[in-house]
Amino acid sequence: MRRSTAKAVMLTLVLACSGAVPALADPTKYPPPNNNCRNTGSFESWLAGFRQAAAAGGISRPTISAVLDGMALDPGVIARDRRQSFFAQSFTAFSAKLISQNRLQAGGAQLKKHADLLAKVEQKYGVQGPVIVAFWALESDFGAGMGNLSVLRSLATLAYDCRRSEMFRDELMDAMRIVDRGDLRPEEMIGSWAGELGQTQFLPSHYLKHAVDFDGDGKRNLMKSAPDVVASTGNFLMFLGWQRSQPWLQEVKVTRNLPWDQADLAIQHPRSKWAAWGVSQLNGQPLPSDAMPASLILPMGRFGPAFLAYQNFQVYLKWNQSLNYALTAAYLAARLGGAPAMSRGSAEIPEWSLEQTKELQQLLVRRGYDVGEVDGKMGAATRASVKAAQIKFGLPADSYPTQELVERLRGQR
Ligand code: CA
Repeated sequence: MRRSTAKAVMLTLVLACSGAVPALADPTKYPPPNNNCRNTGSFESWLAGFRQAAAAGGISRPTISAVLDGMALDPGVIARDRRQSFFAQSFTAFSAKLISQNRLQAGGAQLKKHADLLAKVEQKYGVQGPVIVAFWALESDFGAGMGNLSVLRSLATLAYDCRRSEMFRDELMDAMRIVDRGDLRPEEMIGSWAGELGQTQFLPSHYLKHAVDFDGDGKRNLMKSAPDVVASTGNFLMFLGWQRSQPWLQEVKVTRNLPWDQADLAIQHPRSKWAAWGVSQLNGQPLPSDAMPASLILPMGRFGPAFLAYQNFQVYLKWNQSLNYALTAAYLAARLGGAPAMSRGSAEIPEWSLEQTKELQQLLVRRGYDVGEVDGKMGAATRASVKAAQIKFGLPADSYPTQELVERLRGQR
């Protein structure tokens, strides 16, 4: 059964951006980032205009004054936003780095410590404890690493900067509404250069819409209150489409001769079909032979780790469109839920450097394949084109490039 490829298209737009880009409000709402723009007017005149817009938008005078009086540009934020900090990293390297032994232990401890809270939140929002705890770990190590910049100053800077001004103008306005509502005082809003807030790093617009007060003090405090953080994260995941108590990701074992072209996030089959093709649980036990739909994901190709991604995995891609991040967050949740350590796969798998990936992309483009931007990132579009080329050359179509594919694309064999 083939599902809409809308998600795959979205993936091509954002590619693998390891958490540097916050969960975007709505990718269709704003124009793509204008990477070549130049700021013309002064920050001061921009600020004067924004002040008027805030008043017109219904923000109270005291909040406008508390947030915007003395506001100054932070050039470091613009520099950080424009730096292409991406470096090629395979899924196994990326996930090994993010899922450290420390994080696993800390996550386990938090699961225990907050068992009652997590049970209440699952009861109310349908999201399992390990799922929330995994995001909590990756986004801030349970509040230890939220950043140390004024979020309001970061937002004002990014709203002034021409690269993504429309989006951040809205986010700054929503951050002021959070102050207006009495949830946080401006000086409490300390966080990252990217304008996210709290222990699971919500954009202000998400904070405004989806944060909940779960400790009953009348404020939605995602900076300090564990009950508010856990419940708000559950509420947000429910909003993103989480299906109550359903699975999200399961590492599996594959055989040597699957129809590899079916291993694709855009393709789903009932679990019984995967079982019939020889996909089994990691320990070799058979999968339940039922109708539950799942995609097979081979982030490193057919010799690497393999996962069944269930419907709920789509929610991870809405949180962060990077496949590496989504898989890592989902897999960490699975580990916290008791899954065994990742299989290293059945062979040495060559990693693709930025330069090698660029060369591969150029070869694909020369053959008429669409890879999105030639940027050295193994994103969804590049993977889809690798698969198409593998099919054309009669190679196993597992969407992960090999040296043989490169040689075939070069016309060497
Ligand atoms: Ca509260």
